[in-house]
Amino acid sequence: MSTASVSVSVVSQLSVSKPDPNLKQIKSAKIERGLSDIYGENIRLTTYTSDADVDPIKTDWYNADPKKRGPVVPSKFKNGLGKHNAIGAHGGPYSIYHALSIGTRQLDSNHIADYTSGFPSFDFPQVPEWSEPGKIVSLDPFGHMTPWLYNSIGKKEGVEVRPSMAITKAVLSIPEIRGEVQKGNLKPDGKVVLNEDGDMACTKVAVDPVWYLPGVAERLGISEADLRRALFEDTNGMYPELVTRPDIKVFCPPIGGCTAYIFGNPANLHKEDKRLSVRVHDECCSSDVFLSDICSCRCYLIFGLVEAAREAQNGGNGMICYFRKEGRCLGEVTKYMVYNARKRCGDTADNYFPRTECIAGVKDARFQELMPDILHWFGIKTIDRMLSMSNLKYDAIIKSGIDIKERVEIPDYLLPADCRVEIDAKIASGYFTNGHRYTDEELKKVEGRQWQNI
Ligand SMILES: [Zn+2]
Repeated sequence: MSTASVSVSVVSQLSVSKPDPNLKQIKSAKIERGLSDIYGENIRLTTYTSDADVDPIKTDWYNADPKKRGPVVPSKFKNGLGKHNAIGAHGGPYSIYHALSIGTRQLDSNHIADYTSGFPSFDFPQVPEWSEPGKIVSLDPFGHMTPWLYNSIGKKEGVEVRPSMAITKAVLSIPEIRGEVQKGNLKPDGKVVLNEDGDMACTKVAVDPVWYLPGVAERLGISEADLRRALFEDTNGMYPELVTRPDIKVFCPPIGGCTAYIFGNPANLHKEDKRLSVRVHDECCSSDVFLSDICSCRCYLIFGLVEAAREAQNGGNGMICYFRKEGRCLGEVTKYMVYNARKRCGDTADNYFPRTECIAGVKDARFQELMPDILHWFGIKTIDRMLSMSNLKYDAIIKSGIDIKERVEIPDYLLPADCRVEIDAKIASGYFTNGHRYTDEELKKVEGRQWQNI
């Protein structure tokens, strides 16, 4: 089946019926087959369930026994073309850089990873949520143990199995946290979370997205067929198997994942008699890293870290779940266009969401419905303090079955003046507050500053 004629038949099966006037020209154009020494002479555009050489490794997503659950294998390396059981590629967006490393021959396509000392710094226990139907659909619960659980099956089947999660330890030296220690607002404990200099100790868990498509579709309230078609079409056909392989239920999408930063003893995280403060934070590079003052992101992140340290020092845990969801998942290019429109058209709170919608078409594309999976992976049942005002995050967590005892809003004095436009617009749209919720008339009077040079 692996001939060029297969490629042509694939094109005909996937094409719309209307003839393409350029088809003759396309047909006569010479198709260059690069890297033939690595990939072979033939290019297989996709596979079909009916292909004679297709025999995917068995998976059973909600099986609690990792051996019966089976490994997630998107790679077509070695025997993977017939045996892979996931669509997409390992590594989220970094799969593209992996391709460049192969293309430039800086990476040997036959490289076998040696994970010998990469095992987790803390062994999080398997909890029932890992196999409870519908509970975890956007990450692989066994993704941190892949090299050790599935090494033998990888060797036996001749396929590449790679981890999609990793767990390590870190020390965070954050200027604001050090400042809080110097001011006496945070006390060093020397062993749990804070040292004399104000450095924070944490355990951190990196998660690449792995989607169980039937579960993701159910979470979003659409059919699996609609989900597959949208993913296929809107990525301009990047992953044909989304439509040609309905038997493959797992997709490794080329998107950013999440990192959980855990403060305090990670062994307590799932214990209901231990207190837990959580901030779910969506990436905002301009504020989080570069301290732009147009939004409240870094301020809230720092507030979350301070509260996390306090909870850890009180014998509980603090946790920041940091999602790579830049600019509400609309991206920085859209975000900056919105900033321009806001600053040029009157930066008032009543215009905050309309300015986003007129460029992006939507207010938000973060789909918080998938966010609680990381909380369930830890076995969390109750969050004592939710360090977020977002109704979207709150609703998603509650709907997923986790209880939230207290919602904590960021104190006003921590907010830079220019971010009032954002925060007041969000409060008016449904964000949690114990304070004042602005009326439409009042929102018109909340105005950001004009562009200025310093
Ligand atoms: Zn921001």
